Amino acid sequence: MTDKVLKLQQTLERLSNLLRAERRSFQTKWGLLPVQFEVLNYLASCNRFSGTLMAVCDYLGQTKGSVSQTIKLLEKRGLVLKQPDETDKRISRLTLSEEGAQIISEYNSSVMLLGLDEETTDKTQSAVDALLVHLEKNIKVKPFGFCENCQYNCVISDNEYYCKLVKTPLTPEDVVKVCVEYESKSQQREG
Ligand code: SF4
Repeated sequence: MTDKVLKLQQTLERLSNLLRAERRSFQTKWGLLPVQFEVLNYLASCNRFSGTLMAVCDYLGQTKGSVSQTIKLLEKRGLVLKQPDETDKRISRLTLSEEGAQIISEYNSSVMLLGLDEETTDKTQSAVDALLVHLEKNIKVKPFGFCENCQYNCVISDNEYYCKLVKTPLTPEDVVKVCVEYESKSQQREG
């Protein structure tokens, strides 16, 4: 079993290096450090409840001090906007500025992955999802996920959803974004 785990680890490291190398030219083009790109990419993919300093720290697994510095620099460049929450003024909401959103929209799907057929893509997605759930449980980090598999999501109709946690209707755009409040349906069954 140890040999198999080692082989899996090496494969994951190889994949991660290839993906990082592929996005390096994008980062260079826009003068972004890897961590700055990661913050922009997270803010582009998270839902409206998840754009906070602590959520960014949890998602990237980085300290508050370092993420805070990165966000200050991105604000200075006009790529990130920070505004007080409408209901709780102690919380600042982070969003991409128009320019930040424009830059990140140029970051398309990995060319390396584009040639994969649908069956392999689906199988790989399921395996990677299962691996991520295992890792998040194993090292006890906050899980992030999508409404589809969340215990708080109520499907009202094809295009209408409702979040029982934040007690808010969700749009089809909301439900495909990453959420910091996500809790899997399996956690509910285990609980
Ligand atoms: S249903 Fe779950 S994932 Fe969706 S917004 Fe609510 S808490 Fe987040």
